[in-house]
Amino acid sequence: MILPADFDFTQGNLQDYLDCPYRFYMRYIKRTKWPALVVGDALEFEARGQAGGRFHRLVQQYMLGVPEDRIDEMADEDPNNDLRAWWDGFLSHVPPWLDGERWVETTLTAELADYRLVAKYDLILSDSNGGLTIFDWKTSQKLPRKDWLLERVQTRLYRLVLLEASPLFTGGGPLTADHITMNYWFTAQPQTPVALPYQTSTYQRDRGDLSQLIEEISSSKPSDFRRTDDLKKCHFCIYRSHCDRGIEAGDLGDFDDFNIEPVDDPGEISFEALPEIKF
Ligand code: SF4
Repeated sequence: MILPADFDFTQGNLQDYLDCPYRFYMRYIKRTKWPALVVGDALEFEARGQAGGRFHRLVQQYMLGVPEDRIDEMADEDPNNDLRAWWDGFLSHVPPWLDGERWVETTLTAELADYRLVAKYDLILSDSNGGLTIFDWKTSQKLPRKDWLLERVQTRLYRLVLLEASPLFTGGGPLTADHITMNYWFTAQPQTPVALPYQTSTYQRDRGDLSQLIEEISSSKPSDFRRTDDLKKCHFCIYRSHCDRGIEAGDLGDFDDFNIEPVDDPGEISFEALPEIKF
């Protein structure tokens, strides 16, 4: 078996495998760090990730009951002017959607193909009708298409893991898929989240596809992890000089900023430190 014994599958590492099996091999099996930038404008890239992280912290504090005027002050004092506008957009539109029990920054796990799937949620809302809604806050500048979001590993994995873990929320048996919706809320389009309701047929398809993918990865030999043929993936990959796929990093303007991860600032509450709920 090529994977480390304690290996967990996440939306990040599965998406990496789909983007380029060799990148997955370098990053998660060889654990090779490579001194290259993801995009040319490294400082702006990092600043965007940190601003996204600070916005997530504001929302988290709001969900946990920190007074709104205190959060307003933090938004006003933020070095990135976008944060104030993002926060205004959130306050203007999101609170009426938040009726129900809130599970803030929660990690859930499920078993699939003898491996553990791990999903980290910004918010899960449990409503009085027995529905569960996932909210994922996105600060990316580009708005992706709905059909693109539906095929992302994040969408497929998050809904599947929540359905499998649903007895935790019901206190009884599992829900059916139609009780679950995933909402992507974008700061660039605050008035309407992109709502992706789940269906039993989609759950069955995702379960089959993800099982197959995990079995394929876990049974692969090193030589099976092929380099992608899609050279656009290499423009924003730190291994491009190792792979002889160019030296210059791609332009930040061309980068799919949906993939910029929110970064925790030092001193803030750590996402990783929050408790995990096991299924
Ligand atoms: S540079 Fe291209 S081929 Fe090499 S790991 Fe990255 S995405 Fe894959």
